[in-house]
Amino acid sequence: MSTPAEAAHPAGGFRGVIAVDGPSGSGKSSVCRAVARRLGLRYLDTGAMYRAVTWAALDRGLDLDDRAGVARLGRGLVLDVATDPASPGIRVDGVDVTAEIRTPRISESVSAIATNLDVRSDLIARQRVIIARSEGVIAEGRDITTVVAPDADVRLLLTADENARIARRARELHGTDDAAALEATHAQISTRDARDSTVVDFLVAADGVVEIDTSALTFDQVVATVLQVVTETAGAGVR
Ligand code: C5P
Repeated sequence: MSTPAEAAHPAGGFRGVIAVDGPSGSGKSSVCRAVARRLGLRYLDTGAMYRAVTWAALDRGLDLDDRAGVARLGRGLVLDVATDPASPGIRVDGVDVTAEIRTPRISESVSAIATNLDVRSDLIARQRVIIARSEGVIAEGRDITTVVAPDADVRLLLTADENARIARRARELHGTDDAAALEATHAQISTRDARDSTVVDFLVAADGVVEIDTSALTFDQVVATVLQVVTETAGAGVR
């Protein structure tokens, strides 16, 4: 059943798939959650799944370079991904790790897991199942428009120049974008993006993917732009 806000929006009846990619600090998580809430869609944060496998590997004391061992662990995990945009979360074998996976310890190690191609194929398969079971979903990550859901009804790449991304992440992580916070954040973001981009290209829009440069836009403006693209697509006959 749709809420008044959903019903009021021209794309409120949209029940297709929206795929969103982008680098860290592009603002995609908060934007996607807001769009999902507005349209009454499920919200799938695929980064949380890579983070959850990272948490499990560290928790079990595995060597993250032991690719076969980490992949074996990953395949055996029960990942319970909550896709309610009002309270997204993730459980690993019944343990709620929603808060823990946001800690620097996980952010610093997640690329080692994300560049493990056996882990990727397992998580990609799980993500496709979640998307297929959702009646209307916005899924975000690094390879959603290109690999996980290349047939999505709407495909978007959120980008932002490096300074804008670092400032956003610094405010999220440190509550300020003063010089010290910017410096600490810069190292973290650029190392992670450089490692991540060795396995997926999320910096250049693939064919048919709409790029939204968020550098000079406020949060509300980005949400409005995404909603506009969905409305145009929905108006063009998409579910
Ligand atoms: O989006 P978030 O920063 O939480 O993602 C954490 C990490 O998960 C990324 O740095 C990347 O290594 C990995 N990731 C990925 N493919 C996705 C989503 C996330 O490789 N679709």
